[in-house]
Amino acid sequence: MRCPFCGSENSQVKDSRPSDENSAIRRRRVCSDCGGRFTTFERVQLRELTVVKRSGRRVPFERDKLERSVQIALRKRPIEPERIERLVTGLVRQLESSGETEITSAEIGELVMAALRELDPVAYVRFASVYRDFRDASDFQAVLRDIASDLSDRRLRDDTYAAGSPPDVPAAKK
Ligand SMILES: [Zn+2]
Repeated sequence: MRCPFCGSENSQVKDSRPSDENSAIRRRRVCSDCGGRFTTFERVQLRELTVVKRSGRRVPFERDKLERSVQIALRKRPIEPERIERLVTGLVRQLESSGETEITSAEIGELVMAALRELDPVAYVRFASVYRDFRDASDFQAVLRDIASDLSDRRLRDDTYAAGSPPDVPAAKK
């Protein structure tokens, strides 16, 4: 594994442990040449995926890129790193199990938006504003209306449970 700091190929594994609910192995490494420390992950990959960009260009799917865009949307939000990790793993599993080997960047974007919408409204607006390339205030208003309706749905759902109704009564949700 090439050292990200000096490019040396000599690194030693200092520590190795399961992570992300045993779906990955996390290895702490130290570079023998510059002493730099870094972490690598070994994961199961169910299938090779290709992303078809808006331009029509095809690139290999990279979990790291997906994770980075999710992390940017969630920057400084009160969400634990483990939950972000689980969210990304869930997204990747959905993509890998879709039966398609090619996915469009638009499909990935929609999937991420749906997940963030459940997790954190602020991150959802951030991601949507970049992904959908908001140009004016009305774009924001449409998304804020969605969030307002999510929140009132949630309140309704919580009230339903609080009142002791059986959980099989479906809460208003579109
Ligand atoms: Zn190094």
